Amino acid sequence: MTCFGSLMPLDAALLADDEIEVSLFGPGFGESAAIHIGGGDWIIVDTLIDEYSSTLIPLEYLQSIGVDTATQVKLVVGTHFDADHVMGLSATVAACISASFVTSLVLNERQVLRLIRSNSRDPEVDDRFAGEYAETLSVLQQRAQTGTPTVPPITWAAPNTTLFQRPSSGACPRARVTSLAPSHASVTMTLQALGNVIPVEGFDRKPTPFRVPNHSSVVVWVEVGDVALLLGSDLEETGHSGTGWTAICDSGARPEGRAEIFKVPHHGSSNGHHERVWSELLVDEPVAVLTAWRLGAHSLPTATDMERICEHAADAYLTSPPAAPRSLKRNPAVEKTMKESVIRINALAGRLGHVRLRRHANGTSPWAVELQTPADRLRS
Ligand SMILES: [Zn+2]
Repeated sequence: MTCFGSLMPLDAALLADDEIEVSLFGPGFGESAAIHIGGGDWIIVDTLIDEYSSTLIPLEYLQSIGVDTATQVKLVVGTHFDADHVMGLSATVAACISASFVTSLVLNERQVLRLIRSNSRDPEVDDRFAGEYAETLSVLQQRAQTGTPTVPPITWAAPNTTLFQRPSSGACPRARVTSLAPSHASVTMTLQALGNVIPVEGFDRKPTPFRVPNHSSVVVWVEVGDVALLLGSDLEETGHSGTGWTAICDSGARPEGRAEIFKVPHHGSSNGHHERVWSELLVDEPVAVLTAWRLGAHSLPTATDMERICEHAADAYLTSPPAAPRSLKRNPAVEKTMKESVIRINALAGRLGHVRLRRHANGTSPWAVELQTPADRLRS
């Protein structure tokens, strides 16, 4: 398989019951993580399509290492409905029939309308923006109608909500996955903002597009035995109590412990940084992983962001460089899909990079790091 050519495909049987894996994928526009939480159980956080091979990441990767995605994936989390986090989400949800689908209640106006009218086909609300969301709802609905579900159709993430848990058994450690965000205040604020753009009879007001704020992203806390991981999605710090990272830091109900691995939020951007996260939620020498983001002339992380992350983390790894890639030939089908998804072609990504971290929950050995080009160690 070319897209993982420099990373030796490993048989799933080689992953011990107590072995944790954090795999982060990113080509420069797009982000997805696959986490082995021990015992053969996996979770997927966000999805992307490799634009050159048209493959669904990380489904393709999991299958390449022998994972049965129909039975071994327990959660699929769509942290928020931005194009760089949900490409291929509906197909991933369709394939992972044993997985709960977790997402944020904060949606844009088209997605809310699609949810409200999810019992009927309505081309009015199935526009390009809501397309992936509508398709995901359709997959979940079909599953419910055919009587195959063993899991709830949608779990709305909320602060300190258990999404999955498994007791310890023999060498297999306990595992628990908890959402830390979005906060209730974020949900309230964004629903109020949404109300301002829905047309009201008698008022001559044109609805304007509503962009879901990044303080509504789902943040995931993973515990395997005594090892904890923090997946920051694109959550931003708002400077207000009750929302963003402040709400998580202030919460007395969040799981105890400190995370060893930190998926840095919002592609390392300064608006995702909060000093208290590093001092209160993470161990003294955490390993940071992140993906880049490029849109036209803009890119993340900046040189300043990289310097800040290197100052805070013992080690940091980036799936691909933030600099703009050379123009490369893309698969025509993917190009068409992306055009239809309102993603500007000039904003798109380069080669898919992969950062893989593994460690035994029951041991004391450090994290083993493997990088697939163009992933690299972050240097300030
Ligand atoms: Zn993003």
